[in-house]
Amino acid sequence: MSVLRGVGIGLGVAQGPVVRMTEASPPPENAPSAIGADAERARARDAVTAVAEELNARGEAAGGSAREVLEAQAMIAEDPTLQDEVDTRIDAGATAEWAVHDAFAGFRATLQAVGGYLGERAADLDDIAQRVLARLRGADAPGVPDPGYPFVLVARDLAPADTALLDLDKVLALITTDGGPTSHTAILAREKGIVAVVGAADAATLTSGQTVIVDAAAGTVTVDPSADESVRATERAAARRSAVAAPPTPGALGDGTRIALLANLGKPADAADAVARGAEGVGLFRTEFLFLSAAQAPTVAQQRTAYRELLAAFPGKKVVVRMLDAGADKPLAFLNDAHEENPAMGLRGLRALRASEDILREQLTALAEADTETGAELWVMAPMVTTVEETAYFTGLAREYGLKTAGVMVEVPASALLADRVLAHADFASIGTNDLTQYTMAADRMLGSVAGFQDPWHPAVLRLVREVGDAGARAGKPVGICGEAAADPLLAVVLIGLGATSLSMAPSALADVRLAISERTLDEARRLAEVALAADDAAGARHAVVEAAAALPSHQKETTS
Ligand code: PEP
Ligand code: MG
Repeated sequence: MSVLRGVGIGLGVAQGPVVRMTEASPPPENAPSAIGADAERARARDAVTAVAEELNARGEAAGGSAREVLEAQAMIAEDPTLQDEVDTRIDAGATAEWAVHDAFAGFRATLQAVGGYLGERAADLDDIAQRVLARLRGADAPGVPDPGYPFVLVARDLAPADTALLDLDKVLALITTDGGPTSHTAILAREKGIVAVVGAADAATLTSGQTVIVDAAAGTVTVDPSADESVRATERAAARRSAVAAPPTPGALGDGTRIALLANLGKPADAADAVARGAEGVGLFRTEFLFLSAAQAPTVAQQRTAYRELLAAFPGKKVVVRMLDAGADKPLAFLNDAHEENPAMGLRGLRALRASEDILREQLTALAEADTETGAELWVMAPMVTTVEETAYFTGLAREYGLKTAGVMVEVPASALLADRVLAHADFASIGTNDLTQYTMAADRMLGSVAGFQDPWHPAVLRLVREVGDAGARAGKPVGICGEAAADPLLAVVLIGLGATSLSMAPSALADVRLAISERTLDEARRLAEVALAADDAAGARHAVVEAAAALPSHQKETTS
């Protein structure tokens, strides 16, 4: 038994036999046949027939349009012209492997030259050729395998095209050797609720057929588990399924400390789903999402309609609405159309609103009107606030409109470091960890090449969160988290330990975060936060917290994790 480590996505646990994603095999050598043309021809024909049968069988099982595609592939495999091309090469002394490889490549080039619909089938030919070659070599076919039973998929990483084909009834869990918490695979796994451990480099040693337990909560893969471990994993998986399916309860730590679990929303129509998942209100309503394609500023009436619909979905509940956050990743033509070399650091967020104060005033007017017409508890906040003066400007303006609770987003290190001064003017702070990480790590959140720096577990980011948490505690004012970090169950516990008093996230993350925080006391959350702060980097912080959490006594852990 050995344990491999990576980054777990969510809290799930699953076990089953490993099936490796098969990489394309290297092309064969053009060496002369050692067994003669008759034997090579028979090998080639058997392999082609077997592949055609397998494709037909898979089509039958899949049904629908997949069936048509797979049956067409089976017909291509057995195409007589292609067979003749293979035989011609074998008669000239080639092995079945080389003859298949070369004949299919020639056919592919012809299809590509024709172009159009036939040209698009060229990639299908590659797939069929790889399948026939794999048969001849006694290897597995490339791509997402279909062994005919549920399995744990092990891959280097998944291409978007592969993920689209994943049959979630068959794939019990995913393990990747590459990719991090922000990789495409991780995002997909989070969205679909697939149990996953990504970036587990040592999983390269796993072989098909080995049994593994994939524990996303711990970020571990246990290879060849004992019978005891296997039984425990089965029990945990069943307990988690029922905990996630149970009617949602308000967010609370294991010692009863209340931590409101709120939803991040971009349009009022998503409110019902958030409520169904137990959102206790809205921690971030991104108003700019309503107007991303608008050329003109929305009217007060248009805005009031949208805000009224949102607020009406949360009677008596807190709803935090953010003023239009224009710029960089969310450009709004009517607020910032100037070309900037470095828009993330340009006239964005509150800076842009201030430069078009009439738009800001209209938004506050619409919100104040919607507030009087509905029964939610409306809080308003400004994005990308950098200075104490900006804080005073925004909260003063909001109060002019009769809005009772006005706060700021802390997304820039400057406002985190001066959080005590900022909170002297604001009723609350809400930390946007996406931008706070971007600005702390000097890593563009839109740029894949620096994605490795974009990790909110980094102790530098966590220290800034602590500054805000401490300032909030001293001032007796709420400090929420509304960046993606709040959706990571273990990091959510750390953020509470750093002083967060509420967490807001994509509604799909609520169940796992609710479960994770219920397993820790406030004192434990604080201890885990200290562990994270003491690390050198993001990976070290995550790893140290996973280890420290595993060593803590469990509260509801045995029954619900
Ligand atoms: C953030 O920056 O963390 C945040 C919540 O705001 P957005 O992602 O919309 O920039
Ligand atoms: Mg932001």
